[in-house]
Amino acid sequence: MTAKDADGSPMDKLVALCRRRGFIFQSSEIYGGINGFWDYGPLGVELKRNIKAAWWEDIVRRRDDMVGLDAAIIMNPKVWEASGHVGGFTDPMVDCKSCKGRFRADRVYTVRFLDGSGRPIHAEAVESDDPEQAVAAAAAKAPSKARRRLKTGYDTRVYTPGQEPTAEDQSLCPACGALDALTAPRKFNLMFRTTVGASEESGAVAYLRPETAQGIFANFRNVLDTTRVKLPFGIAQIGKAFRNEINPRNYTFRSREFEQMEIEYFCRPAEADEWYAYWRDARFQWYVGLGLTSEKLRLRDHADDELAHYARACADIEYAFPFGVSELEGVANRTDFDLTQHQEASGRDMTYFDEETKERFVPYVIEPSGGVDRAALAFLCEAHTEDEAPDEKGNPQPRTVMKLHPRLAPVTAAVFPLVKKQGMPEIARGIHEALRDAGLASFYDEKGAIGRRYRRQDEAGTPFCITVDGQTLEDKTVTVRDRDSLRQERIDAARAAEYVRDQLAGR
Ligand code: ATP
Repeated sequence: MTAKDADGSPMDKLVALCRRRGFIFQSSEIYGGINGFWDYGPLGVELKRNIKAAWWEDIVRRRDDMVGLDAAIIMNPKVWEASGHVGGFTDPMVDCKSCKGRFRADRVYTVRFLDGSGRPIHAEAVESDDPEQAVAAAAAKAPSKARRRLKTGYDTRVYTPGQEPTAEDQSLCPACGALDALTAPRKFNLMFRTTVGASEESGAVAYLRPETAQGIFANFRNVLDTTRVKLPFGIAQIGKAFRNEINPRNYTFRSREFEQMEIEYFCRPAEADEWYAYWRDARFQWYVGLGLTSEKLRLRDHADDELAHYARACADIEYAFPFGVSELEGVANRTDFDLTQHQEASGRDMTYFDEETKERFVPYVIEPSGGVDRAALAFLCEAHTEDEAPDEKGNPQPRTVMKLHPRLAPVTAAVFPLVKKQGMPEIARGIHEALRDAGLASFYDEKGAIGRRYRRQDEAGTPFCITVDGQTLEDKTVTVRDRDSLRQERIDAARAAEYVRDQLAGR
């Protein structure tokens, strides 16, 4: 992404800001990058840590019915046979015989543009996550000659994947546009394979986990036997997952390496519907509470024909990203499917003995499964705001501000001396240390004009800026500037940490 791109779409602007300010970098950028892998820079890593810390605090620490787990990324391959991933964790893939491009067959849309009388004037194929996105992407991709014709008003007919054009000879390649060049779909397993130990024989084949959930199921018995958990209870885990996505896209949204935050909540079968409804709403509200308050956040219940064969109910928590409405987290009632599979494959007992009813059974499980990277991207999209703020002379100037929730902001408070003299830096440093001692993420900055320092913190999403000025020398007060309202308040310098803490508690 170059500086020029920053003038483009909201997504281009966000990507440019994330690169410029050190939220997100392309992995191995100095070698031209690697598709589907991303690095989180100094600000991004703090944002991600804050998301995971908020989740762990709210899901594990503050609840009596939850415990945590940290399982290994590489597990015995039998786990993935029992879970169905070796046989069934596939996406349909098509290849272009002309440009050698490879696409997810269920994501290739053909968009035909029609003139006023319904005659096709142009067609484009695109790989996309939904029909709406597909139309936008096709219109953007159309060559300028066709676009000139489209400008005068057009209609579209969108063929969803596999629907039309049906015959192979009508296929259009989403990359090179070649006609009749796509192969028939083939199954492609998304799991990354590796070998364990010095032997390259098939016995040593292992997989990088494509989800953290199976580590929880495989440890169900261990947790039951070593803790005093009673149904209903949950096991929570945060960790890396890997999927060899056919076409990673939409920035960090579809990556090949990502982090998941997963809960397996075990309960009595008769109570599963109730717990499903509880978690579906609780997980939605968690995102709202951390700042996804706009109508862009949605909850979508799956229709019966969308459900996996073992699932009784499923809902997606979705966010309207600039590139389309897509899933942030899925919540599913997976019945006793996973534990039963592992019981059969491992021969180990996965039943629970209910002291109250004297019954033994395999518990049902409710699974809220979210992605840290998708959550981070949604929080960044929601926070990204362009408004105006007065400069030193009081004239309104455009500003870019990341309105991140204070719990998520990489820096909670920045401390500035107005000038680098009269003992102001020493006082400011003292406040900075006091904030740190209070466990707050504080940043000290004495370089450049004060307005520039405010702007930098606005872009980083810092909710509070504390400034030591001439008046501080007289009455030991400082100003606190609120990022969103731009209101400035004078408070006692000695109370700075307490003030910030109170503000955080109130939000
Ligand atoms: P999609 O349909 O978008 O591929 P999925 O339904 O396969 O997602 P799940 O298997 O339910 O996803 O995984 C749970 C969560 O893990 C998702 O809601 C998402 O937040 C995250 N996740 C899954 N795949 C990816 C990916 N390729 N990149 C980033 N996050 C992902």
